[in-house]
Amino acid sequence: MKLIKRDGHTHTHFCLHGSGEEAEAFVVKAIAEGFEEYSFTEHIPLPAGVTNSYPQEIRETFTIIDDDLDPYMREMERLQKKYRDRIKLNIGLEVDYLPNDLSFVKEILREYGPYLQDSLLSVHFLYTTEGYKCVDFSPEDFQEKLLPLYGTYEEVQLEYYRTIQEALAADLGPYKPRRIGHLNLCNKFQHALNPQGSLSEEVKVEIRKVLGLLKEKGVGLDVNMAGLFKEHCRETYPSPWIIQEARELGIPLVYGSDAHSVEDVGRGYDTFRKLVLE
Ligand SMILES: [Zn+2]
Ligand SMILES: [Zn+2]
Repeated sequence: MKLIKRDGHTHTHFCLHGSGEEAEAFVVKAIAEGFEEYSFTEHIPLPAGVTNSYPQEIRETFTIIDDDLDPYMREMERLQKKYRDRIKLNIGLEVDYLPNDLSFVKEILREYGPYLQDSLLSVHFLYTTEGYKCVDFSPEDFQEKLLPLYGTYEEVQLEYYRTIQEALAADLGPYKPRRIGHLNLCNKFQHALNPQGSLSEEVKVEIRKVLGLLKEKGVGLDVNMAGLFKEHCRETYPSPWIIQEARELGIPLVYGSDAHSVEDVGRGYDTFRKLVLE
């Protein structure tokens, strides 16, 4: 069986922390790299309170250019038509699981879900006693905002995987995404904050609970290459041992470049091939 070369996780110029290059340039690069299928999975807008603990200029970069998503949908539909003979383009979203704002998330899915072909459900924020805190902003931010609330790196990891389990169980309606984005994003700063690289049995138990739920629900995993290129991570999301266990369970595994610039399109595909296809 010939496997389709597919990228299931990419961003566009609608994302303010991206390079600003036009989505069309990403598509042209994907075609040149031999991709046959490519999903646009732009971040959903976030409700105001989520990023309140960040300064205004940083807060702005979390979001997408236009909060109502319509211009994004229109532009992706235009590209889908223009390139339909050369590549299968899927319109999607990277949907944040926001435990305290589920009605907001559900409303976006209710409105845009009928027009989406492929989406991701990702956890970037933990909902703490002091509101939402980002897990992947910077090691300093993790250290300042998350560690005092949870005590240890280990406890943050536990909380993260429990949040993923909650996300898998949550009722987000009929358009709930069928794939989890970058499963262990909480480990992005491992070399800075957990240099011995130890992961306790307790954390592994929570990760295996996630895998069990994925299997049970038929939900897939984004095999995300962004971490490989991050100074403090240097590893795929999820880690290779998790990918191995997911493979054994038959969980659908989809390559994701998580490209935020044209240069990122197709990155790490050889690593994906080795981890998942061989
Ligand atoms: Zn993400
Ligand atoms: Zn992403």
